[in-house]
Amino acid sequence: MKTLLPRLLTGLALAGAFAALAPARAAGPIRVLLVCGGHDYQTNQFLQVFRDNPEITFTHLTHPAAHAWLAADKAREWDVLVLYDMWQDISEPAKQDFVNRLKEGKGLVVTHHAIASYQNWPEYERIIGARYYLAATNRNGVPKPRSQYQHDVRFRVEVLNREHPVTRGLEDFDIHDETYRLFDVAPDVTPLLGTKEPLSHPVIAWAKTYQQARVVYLQLGHDHYAYENPGYRRFLANAIRWAARRE
Ligand SMILES: [Zn+2]
Repeated sequence: MKTLLPRLLTGLALAGAFAALAPARAAGPIRVLLVCGGHDYQTNQFLQVFRDNPEITFTHLTHPAAHAWLAADKAREWDVLVLYDMWQDISEPAKQDFVNRLKEGKGLVVTHHAIASYQNWPEYERIIGARYYLAATNRNGVPKPRSQYQHDVRFRVEVLNREHPVTRGLEDFDIHDETYRLFDVAPDVTPLLGTKEPLSHPVIAWAKTYQQARVVYLQLGHDHYAYENPGYRRFLANAIRWAARRE
């Protein structure tokens, strides 16, 4: 017993770890959990982007109902979490569910104002690879001014990495959209899109991993000018496919 029990426990732990990894579903549409709430948007025009994507089915949720869908039993119904929310309240169990789903390999695509969610949850910054400052603050002795946004900017989007699956089929494109600047981007992300527009941060989209999850952030997407832009649509569809490990 003295030698067998630890071996048995190790075997059980390994089996448990293996079972916990959600394998990519090989066939059928990618099931998207689309989470909004906490910020206005043109709902019908935004949802049309998802209705027009033939590769997905989607469930559209608004806070505060969304966090319940991060629980293990509800998560069997989706493959990729797409965030278009701007929300601050999150319970400790919901934080655990969020991280556990990423440990299992669920995909995550974070768009636009969702960069400013969960300002009081430091792990969210590590998950998405960025920090937007809703208020001026001081970090480790470094003063951080409030991040800035500008509506209705017409600017050129440049593809920074043409080898990545998320930029496949994309050329540089023009867009009418909102820009953000004075936010931090983690040094370990893979930059995908950028711009020379001075009202914007030079990097506006990237890919990264967090635990077992593939994560993409896309800054674009304020209103219908972006929703209707073919470059925005192509990037978002590629991001969902890559996050779902279907590329
Ligand atoms: Zn916006």
